[in-house]
Amino acid sequence: MSIAQRLARPEILALPPIDIAGAPVPGTIRLDANENPYPALVQGQSALNRYPEPQPADLARRMADLYGVDAQNLWVSRGSDDAIDLLMRAFCTAGRDTVGIVEPTFAAYAQFAQIQGAKVAATRLGADFTFDADEVLRFAQTEQPKILFLCTPNNPTGTRIADAAVERLARALPDTLVVADEAYGEFDEAPSLAPLAASIANLVVLRTLSKAYGLAGARIGCAIAAPDIIGLLAKVSPPYPLPEPSIRAALDALGPERMSAHADRIRLILAERARVATALADVAEIRSIREGGNFLFLEVADPEALAKRLAAAAVRVRFRPNAAPGGVRITIGLPAENAALLAVFGVTDGDRPSRRAEIVRDTKETRIVLAVDLDRPEPRRIDSGIAFYDHMLDQVAAHGGFSLTLACSGDLGIDQHHSIEDVAIALGQALKEALGDKRGIGRFGFAMPMDETSAEVLIDLSGRPFAKFDGGFDSETVGGLPTQMVPHIFRSIADSLGAAIHVRVTGDNDHHKVEACFKAFGRALRQGLAIDGASGALPSTKGML
Ligand code: PMP
Repeated sequence: MSIAQRLARPEILALPPIDIAGAPVPGTIRLDANENPYPALVQGQSALNRYPEPQPADLARRMADLYGVDAQNLWVSRGSDDAIDLLMRAFCTAGRDTVGIVEPTFAAYAQFAQIQGAKVAATRLGADFTFDADEVLRFAQTEQPKILFLCTPNNPTGTRIADAAVERLARALPDTLVVADEAYGEFDEAPSLAPLAASIANLVVLRTLSKAYGLAGARIGCAIAAPDIIGLLAKVSPPYPLPEPSIRAALDALGPERMSAHADRIRLILAERARVATALADVAEIRSIREGGNFLFLEVADPEALAKRLAAAAVRVRFRPNAAPGGVRITIGLPAENAALLAVFGVTDGDRPSRRAEIVRDTKETRIVLAVDLDRPEPRRIDSGIAFYDHMLDQVAAHGGFSLTLACSGDLGIDQHHSIEDVAIALGQALKEALGDKRGIGRFGFAMPMDETSAEVLIDLSGRPFAKFDGGFDSETVGGLPTQMVPHIFRSIADSLGAAIHVRVTGDNDHHKVEACFKAFGRALRQGLAIDGASGALPSTKGML
């Protein structure tokens, strides 16, 4: 007997699958779903007049790939909240079954259990919020819960439950669904339990795109489990649960070429988490600090007084008195937001505001994610799809002294033009955004020789676009890059950055000349972007740039 047949509500097992029109089939006339035949009156979203796929096959495959399981082991849900609710409805009979939780933990487990009419049995984490697998096993053997929720890393305490402990509990409790909620798994070094959920019949893993992938607004998560459990979740799921724009947004954001941008952001959030924790370490009113997921959990001496100061600074956090007296969960935000939080604790953050910017630019011709950080030389990871252009952009960043990451997938089969131009535009936009109010910058910059070649790039980060290119090339291409695109690249950057860029290049060797233009541009940028002393003055007598 399968796990679903043994543990599910009998009436759900007896229920036929919901009777809805299936996924649209291209080339067929669709008169089976009582939809409106006219396109939706929403720009760019005209297909919204049609129901979405009941379960989005492409997204399910992509998420299965992401989590290292087969698509038959995964149910895409409306956030992982929805997966929690589906599990309750499929397995818990009202008034009879029990749901086990290990407090303090995510409130939705008990909430959805109660909505379903299930009983809630709770045990607590041990001293210092440690997870004691023996104690939880004893608890579960006594209470016999239908579902046992384990959150790792735990919201709000950050406690990590060892994989071996989860596996041991699942194997020791064959009549309980053991659910490992890995909503914050990407912020943790431990490997995911997802592959194990495909092989241990009563283990279920929950994942979400809301945290690490920045898609809380799209409401997409999933349950990973044995296929018969997935089949049951399909049965209790509402029809067409996932809106089409959310499905498309998730597929876009999870493009394989965007994974490194996600990894960079996770690293930034973790670095900020460590920085904020260190900055708070000596604050007298804080009794303890724990790090986990994308948040901190503090115990403070006087939560009411803190609440007043936070309200005055318009900073919102979550007070968690049931987790611990004076318990506060604080999400890690952008550096400037974290600085505002630190200020509430009287810690002044000596750092200047971050000069990082990230541009996402998707058109029918190119899909680009480009990030710069003007105050860090690393990482530099550039993939425009055109190797020589990558090399030139790397020169700009290396000589400019700033971090540049780029993933571009473009219509190179047609021509390189779109990719080259759109990347240049995105680079200009990113530099402009990262410069922010421009206070303290050098603003102007210059020049270099390279063997027989000399290149001079004059730059003024004035806010006014102007481009001048004085020089020419004998060859049509250098390293596969059309030389006629070189002036166009500087023009595109000048336009989107809002800068005057004058390039003058002379020499005999076209390779040297192209390379010298990019290197000199990087050097000029280095001077223009650099913060000049600590004055923070705007380098303009006009008072604006
Ligand atoms: N699990 C945990 C532990 C959470 O903290 C949250 C959200 N705060 C969720 C699940 C639900 O996330 P979502 O529905 O956005 O996937």
